[in-house]
Amino acid sequence: MRLTFLGTSAGAPTRQRNVTCQALSFDDGAVWLLDCGEASQHQLMKAGIRPKQVERILITHLHGDHVYGIFGMLACLAIHGREAAVQVAGPRGVREMVSTVLRLSDFTPGFPLEFIELDRPEQGGIALPAWPSGAAHPWTVTAHYLVHRLACVGYCLHEPPRPGRFHPARARAAGAPEGPLWGQLQRGVAVSLADGRRIEAAEVCDPLRRGRKLLLLGDTSDADEMIAIGQDCDLAVREVTYDDSRRDNALAWQHSTASMTGTWAQRLRAKTLVMTHLSARYTDEDADPVRTIASLHAEVAAACPGTRVIVADDLLTVEIPASDEPLTT
Ligand SMILES: [Zn+2]
Repeated sequence: MRLTFLGTSAGAPTRQRNVTCQALSFDDGAVWLLDCGEASQHQLMKAGIRPKQVERILITHLHGDHVYGIFGMLACLAIHGREAAVQVAGPRGVREMVSTVLRLSDFTPGFPLEFIELDRPEQGGIALPAWPSGAAHPWTVTAHYLVHRLACVGYCLHEPPRPGRFHPARARAAGAPEGPLWGQLQRGVAVSLADGRRIEAAEVCDPLRRGRKLLLLGDTSDADEMIAIGQDCDLAVREVTYDDSRRDNALAWQHSTASMTGTWAQRLRAKTLVMTHLSARYTDEDADPVRTIASLHAEVAAACPGTRVIVADDLLTVEIPASDEPLTT
């Protein structure tokens, strides 16, 4: 699976960066979008991602740079022939915002549109129902409230454990003939032979392998809510709007500085951190000549030794390989 950054600028687009949107592409072809800033539909096409494949849009919060593109995106999906249902999840208000614009512009998508509104729970995260039900990628998704000026969540996406590696030689030695029984054993299911003997999957397969874990955050000055659930994640995506000299601005606007995001990634023991939502002052050629993207990256990396830190650029794709590590409880 892979995550493609369709927009990486904070607040407003620059000449190089569009506003926030990410596309998560599953191995079976399904695509989930995370946020949907204005003109995300253009970026989707530049990235070569088929709009028809988009089945879910996870919105972190309703600030315009994260959501003003959803109306055009839904029209884009319809024009490209999407017929299966699309789910839109986000904090309360997302349904009213989207359905009002669709109604006033007399647009009815040619696919069912389902909304899930995420109210702040007393404590802990909010578990989203599986989508679509019966999907070949039954990841669990939980939303967690972050500190921001507007109701805002981060999403934790967790893959179920994968069966361990199958050993044909062990299966043969145990007396299981090659064929459908092998398929069952590979999926972790015990089989019964014609002579009545039973073979457990554990006899011919290595232990279960852990599933991947991704944290995809909205804007925030404090994401401690996700420290526990996000431990040892494969990939974390968090904003870095300011360098550390602008900490006061970050706190006033409830955004993150480089070291705030880096320190958080270290507490998570994240394998990879992608920094995005960069202020235009670091991206335009005529912006701050002292503080650059490279210096922002250095500030983040210094705060989380051991974590691979990547700067998101528009149309950057990050591969997220499946893990062969055994599942630990
Ligand atoms: Zn915001």
